[in-house]
Amino acid sequence: MRFSAVIVAAGASSRAGEGPRKPWRRLAGRAVVRWSVEALLSAGAAPVVVVIADGDEADVADALGGLDGWIAVSGGATRALSVQAGLAALKQQPDDLAVLIHDAARPFVAERHVLALLSALAEADGVIPALPVADTLKRADTAGSTITAPREGLQRAQTPQAFRLGSLRRAYAAWPVDAGEPTDDAQVVERAQGRVGLVPGDPMLMKLTYPEDFAMAEMLAQPSLVTRVGQGFDAHRFGPGDGVTLCGVVIPHDHGLTGHSDADAGLHALTDALLGAIGDGDIGEHFPASDPRWKGADSGVFLRHALERLHARGGRLINVDVTLICERPKLSPHRQAMRERLAVLLELPIDRISVKATTTETMGFTGREEGLAAQALAVVQVPA
Ligand code: MG
Repeated sequence: MRFSAVIVAAGASSRAGEGPRKPWRRLAGRAVVRWSVEALLSAGAAPVVVVIADGDEADVADALGGLDGWIAVSGGATRALSVQAGLAALKQQPDDLAVLIHDAARPFVAERHVLALLSALAEADGVIPALPVADTLKRADTAGSTITAPREGLQRAQTPQAFRLGSLRRAYAAWPVDAGEPTDDAQVVERAQGRVGLVPGDPMLMKLTYPEDFAMAEMLAQPSLVTRVGQGFDAHRFGPGDGVTLCGVVIPHDHGLTGHSDADAGLHALTDALLGAIGDGDIGEHFPASDPRWKGADSGVFLRHALERLHARGGRLINVDVTLICERPKLSPHRQAMRERLAVLLELPIDRISVKATTTETMGFTGREEGLAAQALAVVQVPA
């Protein structure tokens, strides 16, 4: 079904506390109004009319930069006048077209809400989402005590509200001058004897009114995360030298480690663990030994690269656990320095970093001191 939308973003935001007015505040990095405009555009609204206060032209351009299919018009002194300014911008549109009227302060509107409203509009002049009142309602009397008010049949009206454009135009034209301010658009259609139906509302259509609403919305705006685990293993052979580098720390020894880079098996295992957690190949794929750029390289570069790949997907590292396996050098005196180095490389608190050392009791290649090995685990959270 074809439909257009009017988003009212001209209100004073007088209860929302300090800072920019509500439509221009950021929610998870996007302006509040942008959430609704993007959702309604992607649900098929054409056009989306954003009604703004005089002087907010730069704010709306900044908030909606890069989006097509919206226009901004100046609103009036009241919400009702602003809605009518939005409707005036749709004067070329036919009366039987559906229009959604939406408050910019309800950022979590989604296509499912739009579909429910439009399909119910076939049998009414208007349809609104509404939630039954769950809390007991009280009226405070002048003496400061309370009286319980009946809540049977009461519904909390939300937006977007859907109307036939002609029905809403006629209803606004018929609204008596002395009738005061309507508190929503459905009231205007009701007064004109229009039939307004209900579809189930949604707590996600919450209205941002008070400062604490923004804190809750910020939590709701975060994508849901899933936990993933990756593991890595690496081994390097001992060769000539006077020390080994493990987890970014140089440890004196009567041998060195051979390898194309600095041969830091701890960081290599950890890099593979991070890449493994996000299913992003392995260290050899990202940093081929055939590439002369990585000759003698500080393996911290590899680990940082893997961390950036995680961050680029919106993920974050939770904790890492490294086990180093060798007979010599003795690693326990260096464990704390290694944790401290990893804390810097991984931007993690040190209590989320574990470095352990063990031997294989003289068995196998590490037991014969032909080389050393490292195992690592990384736990990450990424958007679901
Ligand atoms: Mg290696």
